[in-house]
Amino acid sequence: MPGEKNPLDTPLLGLPGVGKERASQLERLELRTVGDLFLHRPGRYEDRRHFEKIAGLKLNEPALTHGKIIASGVRRFRKGSQSIFEFILDDGTGRLHCRWWNLPFMEKYFKVGDETVVFGKPNSLRPRTMDHPETEVIQALENSLHLNRIVPIYPLTEGLPQRWLRSLTWRILEQFGNAVPEPKLTTTGKSALGVSLLSRAEAIRLLHFPMEIADTEAARRRLALDEYIELQSAIQTRCKNLERNARSVSCSGDNHLIKPFLAALGFHLTDSQTGVLREIRRDMAGPTPMRRLLQGDVGSGKTVVAACVALMALESGANVALMAPTEILAEQHWRNFRRWLEPLGIAVELRTGSTKTGIETGQEELRLHRSNVVNQKVWVGTHALVQEGFTPEKLGLVIIDEQHKFGVAQRETLVRKGAYPHLLVMTATPIPRTLGLTLYGDLDISILAQSPPGRGKIKTFVRDSTGLPKVWKFVAEQLSKGRQAYVVYSRLEAEDTAAGVKAVEKEFHNLEKTFAPWRAGLLHGRLKSEEKNQVMAAFEANHVQVLIATSVVEVGLDVPNATVMVIENAEQFGLAQLHQIRGRIGRGKEDSYCILIAAGKTEDSIQRLKIMEETSDGFRIAEEDLRLRGPGEFLGREQSGAPPLRFGELSRDIALIEQAREIVRENLKLK
Ligand code: ADP
Ligand code: MG
Repeated sequence: MPGEKNPLDTPLLGLPGVGKERASQLERLELRTVGDLFLHRPGRYEDRRHFEKIAGLKLNEPALTHGKIIASGVRRFRKGSQSIFEFILDDGTGRLHCRWWNLPFMEKYFKVGDETVVFGKPNSLRPRTMDHPETEVIQALENSLHLNRIVPIYPLTEGLPQRWLRSLTWRILEQFGNAVPEPKLTTTGKSALGVSLLSRAEAIRLLHFPMEIADTEAARRRLALDEYIELQSAIQTRCKNLERNARSVSCSGDNHLIKPFLAALGFHLTDSQTGVLREIRRDMAGPTPMRRLLQGDVGSGKTVVAACVALMALESGANVALMAPTEILAEQHWRNFRRWLEPLGIAVELRTGSTKTGIETGQEELRLHRSNVVNQKVWVGTHALVQEGFTPEKLGLVIIDEQHKFGVAQRETLVRKGAYPHLLVMTATPIPRTLGLTLYGDLDISILAQSPPGRGKIKTFVRDSTGLPKVWKFVAEQLSKGRQAYVVYSRLEAEDTAAGVKAVEKEFHNLEKTFAPWRAGLLHGRLKSEEKNQVMAAFEANHVQVLIATSVVEVGLDVPNATVMVIENAEQFGLAQLHQIRGRIGRGKEDSYCILIAAGKTEDSIQRLKIMEETSDGFRIAEEDLRLRGPGEFLGREQSGAPPLRFGELSRDIALIEQAREIVRENLKLK
């Protein structure tokens, strides 16, 4: 009812036991209202129905135990200001020393006689000792809440006791637990799908006070479903509004430009490429603007597809904007598009904010072609295209390359520069299905499954740095066979030599000598645009045989004669990124070699890199990355444009995400 207050909006400040000081502590955790507190997710749980006996504690094994404090005090060392606070816990079977370094004020929180729960890892058994364990003093009267049950352990802030927050949550659940509304969409949706789920109110109760550990996952899933439904509603509503309101110009073309383009191209399109183009042409013919994601592994030939799509729009009288994430890539596209389209009488203009020359050259080209009665245009550029000063006329198609490097907001800003232009976004990052549905739920997806024929294999090897001399010898052999090589570093400058992370500038000087008389070039993001172009042109022309670079080589370079890729400190990169970088080789007929050097000998990082030896399937690599490193790699904050998920865990929620999609889709159909 309008005007009626939602009980979950009740401020915590002023509720029994919550004074100004507590309220400001809660505020630091962004807990202001009853509803906020309900969604404060415990970081973990302790099963306090079962405690280890102190006598049974094992070295280095995390354990939960409890007992009575029989002694406590601070010891200070004579030298300096070092101190140790220690108490001794006794449970009748044995004694446990709990110690904290340099936190003398801890003394005031513990008294002899306190019943105390301790969670930690014994780091010695003689005497039994835990350093910096988690603790909680239990007061006799509160036993029901803090003992003999599974208890939530919350993220805290300074001065806020675990016990106090737990009691507050308990009391507030008593008072407001029944006021948690059931979202309509979830209820109707879940019964339609035949999914049995907890109610939201039940889920919140079990999130904080589960009866069994399994309850916590059931609760998480229920709350995650609500999050996914919200996300999907936003995405699908946007699509629906677009469908209702947006009227785009039909841009399916008449082939008068594509025909001569393909004839001059020098190769035939693959079946995948023609298949994708057929899908795209169908979209572009319709009255609703196309919104399509083209996924294709590195080297699968997305650029040619983009050119054909651009030609469809140009044939229909519309102009085109193509945005790429880096200057290197934008300039490369610009060169390709000029080579392909200028003979057809289309002007291709470059816009890259930071380089004045870029724009000037572009305008020069434009002037050049005025005489050709140019009234059709392709703008190629970086983020400069998103800036206010850029006001394209008759923008009928927006193409975004390497979409994962942009945010949704940037993409939409460019789209709004036209009147409902068609949109094609391209990415070489194989997006795991879960993420695809979440991030790109508003896009149709096409996949370039097949790469152009006649390419050699890529063989990948993982080595530790003791193997480097052999690696350089191997590279030299390949160079003497007439091949070229990349050597990639994760850093430009060494800030942190202690960690063994090498920097490209320093290594360049070493490697230049190692590989003489072959010539080495240096490429990194901070070079001036002309310098970058010079180095890349020299490498492309084989004046330079070894390109020593940072991950800027990740996109754009296309040199079929380069068949060796050495990546130092490979452990510093995500697998998906390594896959991208590796995609620079394997573009010619010869077999290629990728050698990943892991610094140090940490088993974990070597195991992770071994996946690269096993597979060149970008989707498998991406799934693996998602499993190992979480969605951060794919979900840069600005990238997703989505609210953060508190309960959703993308790497294991595929079924839930699909349910949410289905629920929202059914619901929108009814409207
Ligand atoms: P990506 O999908 O990584 O953007 P590119 O578009 O840069 O790949 O294409 C990689 C290389 O493959 C380019 O040199 C391109 O000219 C070439 N190529 C694209 N399609 C074909 C094809 N059908 N046959 C042969 N070579 C092709
Ligand atoms: Mg590309």
